[in-house]
Amino acid sequence: MINATLKQLSAQLAGKKISSVELTQIYLDRIAALNPALNAYITTNAETSLAQARAADALLAGGKAQALTGIPIAQKDIFCAKGWRTTCGSKMLENFIAPYDAHVIEQFNKAGAVNLGKTNMDEFAMGSSNETSYFGPVRNPWDRNSVPGGSSGGAACAVAARLCAAATGTDTGGSIRQPAALCGISGIKPTYGTVSRYGMIAFASSLDQAGPMARSVEDLALMLNVMTGFDTRDSTSLQRDKEDYARDLAKPLNGLRIGLPKEFFAEGLSNDVAQAVEAAIAEYKKLGATVVDISLPNSRLSVPVYYVLAPAEASSNLSRFDGVRYGYRAPEYSDLTDMYEKTRAQGFGAEVKRRIMIGTYVLSHGYYDAYYLQAQKIRRLIAQDFTEAFKQCDVIMGPTSPSTAFNLGEKGDDPVQMYLSDIYTIAVNLAGLPGMSIPCGFGKNNMPVGLQIIGNYFAEAEMLNVAHQYQLATDWHSRAPQEI
Ligand code: GLN
Repeated sequence: MINATLKQLSAQLAGKKISSVELTQIYLDRIAALNPALNAYITTNAETSLAQARAADALLAGGKAQALTGIPIAQKDIFCAKGWRTTCGSKMLENFIAPYDAHVIEQFNKAGAVNLGKTNMDEFAMGSSNETSYFGPVRNPWDRNSVPGGSSGGAACAVAARLCAAATGTDTGGSIRQPAALCGISGIKPTYGTVSRYGMIAFASSLDQAGPMARSVEDLALMLNVMTGFDTRDSTSLQRDKEDYARDLAKPLNGLRIGLPKEFFAEGLSNDVAQAVEAAIAEYKKLGATVVDISLPNSRLSVPVYYVLAPAEASSNLSRFDGVRYGYRAPEYSDLTDMYEKTRAQGFGAEVKRRIMIGTYVLSHGYYDAYYLQAQKIRRLIAQDFTEAFKQCDVIMGPTSPSTAFNLGEKGDDPVQMYLSDIYTIAVNLAGLPGMSIPCGFGKNNMPVGLQIIGNYFAEAEMLNVAHQYQLATDWHSRAPQEI
């Protein structure tokens, strides 16, 4: 049961082979047994989850089920869910109970899915290893001394360790794709504007995008069908017709043109990752694809550009955490200014403070033109590189992450090394394009490797087709960590 796909689970539920209450209980029991070691969840609430499961069973009995009715889904703790503690991985929101549902949560509720709990994450989604979480690091189920990636590390761990049927994540610079790669699962960040950001705690609003994380591409399509949709409460939500993302899964890949950017296979890429990715490309050739060499000349600037723009937006977004309206307030202070200062000094962790300071600096008078404006211009050039590339190919492929999962504590003292974990993923966010990661083998110490697939704007259905055909031909995605 714990290895079943969403489609199989849905069939089992519809055929009354199992009830949603029973299925939810299986996962709650697994969470009780494994979460103390893995730390994938910050909050679970068995009573609420089981009440949702009972409601789903009633829908199933009444013949009113949809594709995900009764299926237990883990929600990243960045999404406000009414009545649930919603921490965003921060002490600042340690005791915050969300008074309303994010659009994504609403969509799952409407679909009759069960909220299984809130998953651990880097504080305010700032990180690549889950080590910046106030609630402690998440462990990689393939090797508990390794990081699961970040910031959606709890989600990736929960999916890989079979602590949920599927999960949600968010990706500002790689936070769905990189943890998916490091934990051996599949994840997709859709085109910017496809999933509403309403009720998703903001980090860098022009980059943040939610998406699904699951054990197979077929599952991702079903999740995306639920998560997407126009929402008037997010001014960047795109007004487009609802799509069925599973519609093209079965298409053969004959004639597919895969672009390989030379910048993604240069210095800095570990040998083991390069080998697994090259083997995946060879598999695609067998499936009928051809390979085109392309170049993304400005992509080398994506990390520095991101670390100007994302902190700039974060410094503005995080100004709301001031001890006045919600969240943490310092217990002792002398006056209002002192209250603000102590609240923020005590409520935020080191990485968040670093970003707020960088962001405030690059936006300050005298530096705005030199840093922020300049970064915005290069952002446009990075996006244009992709537009040029997509004249020659249908999808772009490369590694998701330069290495497999690193050890806990290994990069903690060196923020720049940590920032380089996202060197292949960040340009996609800067351009607003869809990107995904699927498992494509194992590297050093038997740790999973992810293949990144980048598509043109709104090419999600095509990317899912490309990824699904690979999963039909290989079985990397169905491997499970040994202890699970
Ligand atoms: N690791 C990147 C950062 O720290 C990206 C995080 C994300 O996508 N949320 O900002």
